[in-house]
Amino acid sequence: MIRLGCIADDLTGATDLSLMLAREGMNVIQTAGVPDRQVDLSDADAVVVALKSRTNPAAEAVAQSLAAAEALRKAGAKHFFFKYCSTFDSTDEGNIGPVTEALLDFTKSDFTLACPAFPANKRSVYRGHLFVGDVLLSESSMKDHPLTPMRDANLVRVLGRQTKLSVGLVAYEDVEKGPEAVRAAFARAKAAGHRIVIVDAVSDAHLRVIGAAAHDLAVVTGGSGVAMGLPLAYGIKPKADAGARMPAPKGRAAILAGSCSAATRGQIAAALAAGTPAFKIDPLALADGKVSAAQILDWIADQGAERAPLVYSSADPADVARAQDKLGRAQAGEMIEHLIADIARALPERGFSRLIVAGGETSGAAVAALGVKALRIGPEIAPGVPWTRTLGGTDLALALKSGNFGAEDFFIKAWDLLE
Ligand code: ADP
Repeated sequence: MIRLGCIADDLTGATDLSLMLAREGMNVIQTAGVPDRQVDLSDADAVVVALKSRTNPAAEAVAQSLAAAEALRKAGAKHFFFKYCSTFDSTDEGNIGPVTEALLDFTKSDFTLACPAFPANKRSVYRGHLFVGDVLLSESSMKDHPLTPMRDANLVRVLGRQTKLSVGLVAYEDVEKGPEAVRAAFARAKAAGHRIVIVDAVSDAHLRVIGAAAHDLAVVTGGSGVAMGLPLAYGIKPKADAGARMPAPKGRAAILAGSCSAATRGQIAAALAAGTPAFKIDPLALADGKVSAAQILDWIADQGAERAPLVYSSADPADVARAQDKLGRAQAGEMIEHLIADIARALPERGFSRLIVAGGETSGAAVAALGVKALRIGPEIAPGVPWTRTLGGTDLALALKSGNFGAEDFFIKAWDLLE
């Protein structure tokens, strides 16, 4: 039975939340967009719908979020979690306020909380003010964010500008005292006419208290931090074999890297030093028609099965600049993404069922080419990067690595977590 239906306003935020819930013992399925009817969600404790709604016009974000909530409710969810960024990324027009209001209407409930705190990542809320590290949000680099500049750290005020509902505060003293005190504070806030409360939290212990106090709310909103206490509040305990290996479909393994980030380049260097067979894509040769997906697929097939072959376009900044000068920035990127997507699409039919893809955009292109609609979240390979197994469609084990994530031995060690 789905205990928690989650709606995340962007993809990496969805994965972050999925990992948090999985670590706390939930079976988690993450879907790309509103879940398809064909995807079987029946054994999930939590389903996390990844939207791309953070900076959409408010009406669109509301419509997408409600479509997700509807699908989650059809799948059995009675509790809903709206996940946004731990820096409360939004403008005075939304979308945190409007989506929260819509979800309260949707669940016919009259009260929820908002807590972006994530102390492990240096986001804390004290007296309703959001701190990023040692400084107020409004003094952090978020003040100059290109899409959602955050110039006010007082979240009661920030959220108050986004909604017609009255916004209150449950402060540190109550959170410090424990779940009963927080529930009493909720009741006082409700009696005072507030429909949303910002809740202070400066430690994981506070997040767990909030989870325990919030288990009967139909809607909880926040960063992934505040989800930490919810599984236990729903009676789910961390699994004894957490961090254990993931059963994976039999088949060969390969690595596709289109990220040029420093971490990925270090991982490639480490893989090459360890003797990994590798094919480097030269963007200029690709533009001249001298390299093709078919040719690379033949090369992959010729490699021995004992080591996962690596295909990469990753290059240092000078080489990237050279390619971009000749081909254009966007064109170079798209050409390489298309090539990697074409390779990914053809791999399953050639017996490859275990893939690591490095790069956010590159992963997006590969996953779209593979037709992946939903993923079951498996063990964490590195902070922010789980193994996943596809649901519906071709059965694959996928590790989708954002460019700068993971230690140097990622491409070598990740396989150890597969059965
Ligand atoms: P990251 O997660 O590191 O940001 P992305 O995959 O999101 O990685 O973005 C990397 C972008 O750079 C992609 O569009 C990719 O196609 C492009 N790219 C990869 N290799 C090269 C290269 N050698 N020259 C120019 N662009 C490249």
